[in-house]
Amino acid sequence: MTETIEAPASVKRISHWIGGGAVEGSSGRSGPVFNPATGQQTGAVDFATVEEVDAAVQAAKAAFVEWRLVSLAKRAELFFRIRELVHERREEVARLLVAEHGKVLSDAMGEVTRGLEVIEFCCGLPTLLKSEYSEQASTGIDVYSIRQPLGVVAGITPFNFPAMVPMWMWAPAIACGNTFVLKPSEKDPSASFWTAELLKEAGLPDGVFNVVMGDKVAVDAVLEHPDIAAVSFVGSTPIARYVYETATASGKRCQALGGAKNHMIVLPDADIDMAADAAVSAGYGSAGERCMAVSMLVAVGDVAEPLLEAIKERIPKVKVGDGLDPESEMGPLVTREHRDKVASYLDEGDVLVDGREGAPEEGFFLRPSLIDNVKPGMRAYEDEIFGPVLGVTRVATYEEAIRLANASPYGNGTAIFTRDGGVARQFQFDVTAGMVGINVPVPVPVAYYSFGGWKASLFGDRHVYGPEGIDFYTRGKVVTSRWPDPATSKVDLGFPQTR
Ligand code: NAD
Repeated sequence: MTETIEAPASVKRISHWIGGGAVEGSSGRSGPVFNPATGQQTGAVDFATVEEVDAAVQAAKAAFVEWRLVSLAKRAELFFRIRELVHERREEVARLLVAEHGKVLSDAMGEVTRGLEVIEFCCGLPTLLKSEYSEQASTGIDVYSIRQPLGVVAGITPFNFPAMVPMWMWAPAIACGNTFVLKPSEKDPSASFWTAELLKEAGLPDGVFNVVMGDKVAVDAVLEHPDIAAVSFVGSTPIARYVYETATASGKRCQALGGAKNHMIVLPDADIDMAADAAVSAGYGSAGERCMAVSMLVAVGDVAEPLLEAIKERIPKVKVGDGLDPESEMGPLVTREHRDKVASYLDEGDVLVDGREGAPEEGFFLRPSLIDNVKPGMRAYEDEIFGPVLGVTRVATYEEAIRLANASPYGNGTAIFTRDGGVARQFQFDVTAGMVGINVPVPVPVAYYSFGGWKASLFGDRHVYGPEGIDFYTRGKVVTSRWPDPATSKVDLGFPQTR
C-alpha cells in the first residue's frame, strides 16, 4: 500500500465526497499522488477513517429511500443527461487520468469512451429491468417476477482504469435503484472526485453517489459495514480473494475481479505482421498496465523466429514519453516502486530487448521489453508483471499451447492468431478463460455483454456490467396473485397445487 505521509502544503488536496459535497478528511493520514511522467508529487489524498466511511454509508442509506422511488422513466432521463455530460467533458477527465496514471491522452480518451458505453447501456434501464409475467399459471392465479435494488452497494477499484472501472460499477448500480459508495485507488483518485461533481451537475440527488478515499482502513470498513449489501471489487488477485472472503463472511453479495496472465497463442499459419502488430499493441499499450494486456506470447512451431524478428523491429519505433505529448504512444508506469519491480524481471532470462535502456530519466519510465524462453517455474512466467514486459514461450503444437494456457491459475483474457477457423473454434471450446479473442488481442466485451474472467481472475459468480451487472445489483422476487370471488373461499390445509 502507499506510504502514509504528511501532505506538503503546496500540493492539491483530494478529499472525500459525501452526501452531495466535498468533505475534508479528519484522520490526518493521506497518501501521495504523483505525476508519473515527471516523478513529482502533485497531490495528497485524504485517507478515510471508519467513521468517515460510516458517514458515506449513512448518506447513501438515507438517499436510497427516495432514489428507489424515482420512476424508471425519470432515471433513464437522468442517465441520458449523464451520458451527454461525460461525452462533452471526456477530455477533461482524460487529462486527469494522464496526470495521475501516466497513460497517453489517446489511450485515456479510449478508457473514457469504453466507460461511456456502459453508461449508454444503462440508459436502456427500463428495458433492462423488465421482468416476466405468467397469466393463468394456475386457474385464476398469475405469477410474475420483479427485480428490486439491493440498497447501499460499494465499489473498490484499482489504479489502472481510474474512470472506466468505477463506471462499470456505479452506472448499473445506480440505474438499478441502488445508492453507491466508491473507494477508488489512492494512486489516482481525482477522476472519482470529478465524477462525483459531474453526477451532481447532471442532477443526481445528493447521497446517491459517494466517494471515500483511502487505504486498507477504508476498505475494511466497507467490507464489514452492516448497511452495505454488496461489494464489487477490481484489483489484484490476493486482495480480490481477501475482499471476497471478508465481504461474503459478513453476509454481502460480492464480485471480486483479480489479476491476469493473458496468453496469446500464435499458430504457424498466422499472418506474421498482423500477429506482431497485435502483440506489440496489446503487450505495451498503457505500459502493460491492463488486466487484458497480453503478457505471454505462445509461439507454436516455426512461427517463433519470424514473429520475434517482426516484434523486435517494431519495439524501437514505439514512442515513449509524457502522455500529454501527442507524439507519445506509451507513457510511464504509475509509481517508482512499481517501475522498479517491473524492471527487476529483466535481471534474469533471455532478455532480447531491455527497456531500461533508453528510457526517459525523469519520471517512472520503462521502455517495451521482451524476454524469450519464459517457462513455467520462472518468476517472469508465474507473476503478473503488470508492465511493458512481454514474455515469449515456444511450444511445438497447438495441444501444448492450450495445455500451457489452461494450466495458468488465471483465466481473464486470451487470444489466438490463426487463419484456421476450425482450430480457432476448438480453442474457444477448450480454453479456460472468461474472455476470448480470435485474431483480437484485447477482447474486452462490448457493454451489452459482461466482463469477467475465470479461476483466480474472478471470485464470485457474476461478471461485471452488461446483463450480469444488472443481475448483480438487483434481487428477484416472485409474486403469486389471485383475485377470487370471496364467496368461493374455504380452508384448505393441503400444500398448494396447480389446478
Ligand atoms: P490492488 O489490488 O493493489 O488495489 C485495488 C484496490 O484495493 C485499491 O482500491 C486499493 O486501495 C485496495 N487495496 C490494496 N491493498 C489492500 C489491502 N491490503 N487491503 C485492502 N484493500 C487493499 O490493485 P492495483 O495495483 O490498484 O491494480 C492492478 C491490479 O488490478 C492488477 O492485478 C490487475 O490485473 C487488476 N485488474 C483486474 C481487472 C479485471 O477486470 N480482472 C481490471 C483492472 C485491473
